[in-house]
Amino acid sequence: MSERLAAAAQRLFGIPLSAEQQAQFAQYAAELEAWNKSRANLTAITAVEAVEVRHFLDSLSVLSVVNPSQGASVIDVGTGAGFPGVPLRLVRPDLHLTLLEATGKKIAFLQHLATLLGIEGVQFLHARAEEAGQMPDQREHYDVVVARAVAHMPILAEYLLPLVRVGGQCVAMKGESAEREVREAANALRILGGRVAGISAVNLPNVAEPHYLIVIDKIAPTPRLYPRKPGTPAKKPL
Ligand code: SAM
Repeated sequence: MSERLAAAAQRLFGIPLSAEQQAQFAQYAAELEAWNKSRANLTAITAVEAVEVRHFLDSLSVLSVVNPSQGASVIDVGTGAGFPGVPLRLVRPDLHLTLLEATGKKIAFLQHLATLLGIEGVQFLHARAEEAGQMPDQREHYDVVVARAVAHMPILAEYLLPLVRVGGQCVAMKGESAEREVREAANALRILGGRVAGISAVNLPNVAEPHYLIVIDKIAPTPRLYPRKPGTPAKKPL
């Protein structure tokens, strides 16, 4: 498995994987499968090839649109079983990664996984994005904020932008609705201090449906009112 992944990561994104990193990805795939069997519901995808493409390579695609500086702080909002945050941290051990997730069961998996893979210095934040965005040590703290499959863009903007420092970037990983979602988020982005920097298509091997990376620059501070209390962004999107 790992050699195929390494070849694809190099070919698609110019990311070389060391033997140690290949072994970490292989362990990650095995652990996902084991947890799925015993606890169910962590992620729908488990066949090794599908995990490599739809979880690992898809996560690494983020590095084709942002290049965090050495030691940059990165938060993955609604990380679930660790995507895209953990693969990014595996190939960029210098990053200061925070994994934010509302479900305790998933946080427990991530802590177990980090120990297993020998990843140190990751912050696990068991909270909702709406809470994190108002925490003094989290608010406008991050250089890069990433999220995949968490919420529709107008809602997601309210989860992500409060966490980014002015001058930092958000990357939202989306499917075919990307362009439409960006249009629908115009009001939210304006209010929250974001500006769309670009939408890039990602082509993954043997994946028919389109994947897009929406990059949003944080150009102004987010007003204190945002994010609103948990549940409100989804109920009353900006
Ligand atoms: N990002 C992962 C991936 O792509 O595999 C997980 C995607 S899963 C569909 C969405 C995750 O976001 C769930 O684990 C859910 O608990 C989390 N989530 C949804 N809304 C959230 C919020 N407001 N704050 C924190 N986590 C949230």
